Parts: sequence; structure tokens; C-alpha cells
Amino acid sequence: CGIVGYIGFREAYPIVIKGLKRLEYRGYDSAGVMLFDGNDLKVSKTKGKVSDLEEKSKEISQSGTIGMGHTRWATHGVPNDINSHPHLSNSENLAIIHNGIIENYEPLKKELIKRGYVFKSDTDTEVLVNLIEEVKKKENLKLGKAVQVALNQVIGAYAICVFDKQKPDEIVVARLGSPLAIGVGKDEFFIASDASPFIEYTSNAIYLEDEEMAIVRLHKPLKIRKIKDDTIVDPYIQELQMNLEQ
Ligand code: GLU
Repeated sequence: CGIVGYIGFREAYPIVIKGLKRLEYRGYDSAGVMLFDGNDLKVSKTKGKVSDLEEKSKEISQSGTIGMGHTRWATHGVPNDINSHPHLSNSENLAIIHNGIIENYEPLKKELIKRGYVFKSDTDTEVLVNLIEEVKKKENLKLGKAVQVALNQVIGAYAICVFDKQKPDEIVVARLGSPLAIGVGKDEFFIASDASPFIEYTSNAIYLEDEEMAIVRLHKPLKIRKIKDDTIVDPYIQELQMNLEQ
């Protein structure tokens, strides 16, 4: 299971696909990608390999300088196209990719269904993206805050990336129990389960600690905070050793 994200000035699709291939060693049963081109949020996902995803993605326009890709190792819901990530919220404004498990997804799902939410997949992840949407709407919060409030209602493990079509200059990321690294470039950011998808673009990486979240926003310094008590954390940027074979 792996995560790759990109926000910047380059075409995201090839970066995400190449990154997912570098993370294949982690094991997976399905793969998916989301792209945003300034107008449309496009999703392509399938059971199978990243090469199957490339085949399937010929059906969508692959343009966009914001992208998120995922390889899934199914825990809740069988491996199939619908259960693959990304998952969209009911409004189709929010997209999420998630590695890990939301253990208390059942009571959360019941509550959301009572409030009128409809679920397409059998995953715990689709519950989380709709919980974020509900919190955001009900409490009139910005995306980062809504993610934080929602995560404080969740029991489990996660590395997540959340994108909001209505606020398309940022990706909100968080981690508890699953790894997440952020590559910091000039006017661009990379997000991945480890640094291998972005080492050729930048040697500056931040490894999120457990219970930390970050708002990865274009042309803004990275903001990291603790999910539980909202403490601000100074980003610790590590210099990666470039060991690129010739
Ligand atoms: N629990 C999620 C699912 O089954 C994510 C699995 C993963 O870590 O890839 O869809």
C-alpha cells in the first residue's frame, strides 16, 4: 500500500504513476489516481496493477498539476474497482486516499447514513471522507480544521491525503501509524509513503511523526500541527542523500 501526491507546476500524472511503481514493493491489490486541472476533478481506479491503472487512465484526460495516487491493500471491502481509492465525498468536492484502518467506521457510518449520506463502497475510507465533509459543513470549517476535528473522532491508523476542489491550492495530509514524507521543492511539494517517488526532484524531505498533520499549500510555508492538541510543530527538513545510479 502506498501514497503519492503532487502539487506544483509540473504535470502530476507521470510523477504519480512513476511514484506508485516505486512503492510497488510495499504490496497492493488495486491502484487509483486523482487529477485536478483547474476545473475538473478526474478519478481513475482499478483492481490490479499500476500498469492496469495506466491502461484504464487512457479514458480520462491526464492533465493537471495536482494529483494523488494510491495503491490499496484491502482491509475493509473486497479488492474491486469501486473499493479502490481515491474516494470522493457525497458532494464530490473532497477526494481522499488512505493507507491504514479506521476501526470505528461502523458507528460513524451509521450516524452519517442517518444524516442522509450515501455510500458507494464498502470501505472504511469512504466513511472518513464523508465525516470530514459533514464536520466541514456543520461547523463551517476550513478543510485543515475539518480534517483535524474528524481525525479526533477516529480510532485507527492512517496516512491520508485530502483534496478539496473548492480550495485547490492545497492538500491536507496526516499520519498515525502509517508513514508519510513530504518533499519540499521550489514552488512544488511531493507527498509519498517514502522518499523514493520524489528523490529525483528534491533532496529536502520532512517526515511527519505520528499524530501530526500538515497543510501543504502552494507558495506558503508548510504548516505542521499536532492533531490532538493543535500544537504547532516546526518543520524539520532533512537533506536526503542522492544516491542516483548512473
Ligand atoms: N482500509 C482501507 C481500505 O481497505 C485502506 C487500505 C490500505 O491501507 O491500502 O480501503
